[in-house]
Amino acid sequence: MTEPGPGVGERAPRPPWSEFRAALDAAGFRPSRRLGQNFLLDENVARAIARDADPAPGELLLEIGPGCGFLSVHLAHSGARLVAVEIDTRLAPIARGFLAPYADAEVLEADVLDGKHRFSSAVEERLPDHGDWSVCSNLPYSVSGPVLALLAAREQPPRRVCVLVQKEVADRLGAPAGSAARGPLSVRVQSAFAVRTLRAVAPQLFWPRPKVDSSVVLLERRPDLPSCAERRRIAAAAGLVFRHRRKGLARILSDHLGDRSRALTLLERLGIEPSRRPQTLEMGEIELLAQGMEIPD
Ligand code: SAM
Repeated sequence: MTEPGPGVGERAPRPPWSEFRAALDAAGFRPSRRLGQNFLLDENVARAIARDADPAPGELLLEIGPGCGFLSVHLAHSGARLVAVEIDTRLAPIARGFLAPYADAEVLEADVLDGKHRFSSAVEERLPDHGDWSVCSNLPYSVSGPVLALLAAREQPPRRVCVLVQKEVADRLGAPAGSAARGPLSVRVQSAFAVRTLRAVAPQLFWPRPKVDSSVVLLERRPDLPSCAERRRIAAAAGLVFRHRRKGLARILSDHLGDRSRALTLLERLGIEPSRRPQTLEMGEIELLAQGMEIPD
């Protein structure tokens, strides 16, 4: 058993990028755009992300897409129980090699998702039903929306989720009422988490360079977390109203309820102006709508 790591604030004994690069070359690796393989090269930023994640020693920490383990080494160094899930069978053994000094780090060779609406069973069986846990990842674009929506919908969402995502995704996650970026993912995520963008990460800090800017976003579980059933209703209501984001709410609800006067009565009772568009709704108003729209659990 290795000693627990000295902590996230301290320097992880991470090998230089040239060693990672040599391991990738030896595996005949070419990065895949489909799998969002843009590796974060900058050690200071990787260390800062691990510090932002701030996992508690011994706590379960899920990393999605460790790649060759560049960020994982910093995460494992925190003393958390790292479960890193990598879909690419060329990369998982490389990450496993770099994480070998950490007895509490595990690399799973698996797709994090089973379809779009479930974590894969290998992941699901490691996630706790109770107690605190955390997520930290340089998230591949193709799964960022589904993964964050699934985390927000869990009975016990993680305490902290610290993710590096495309800036456009970061803007959607934190979009307040009235913002053009606000959509169903904003509402789902904000039903469970307070969202903060912590730092921008420039394209030149990755290999290969992405065409877009990236941001580190921190999601902190809401102290006033709605029940799982309420969050599901909120997600369903958001999915429904945002399907027609150019229409007014009177029209959207009339179509949903099949009765314009019922829709108008409902909006009047909730104090919501019928001509408003979905993206103007505050979280509290969506919660009320979700109750009023008679969406089943
Ligand atoms: N963590 C590394 C870093 O920071 O440099 C790599 C991050 S790279 C943006 C995303 C990683 O996620 C890649 O290693 C890719 O193979 C992996 N990945 C993509 N889709 C995945 C999926 N569905 N399940 C698990 N890993 C996936």
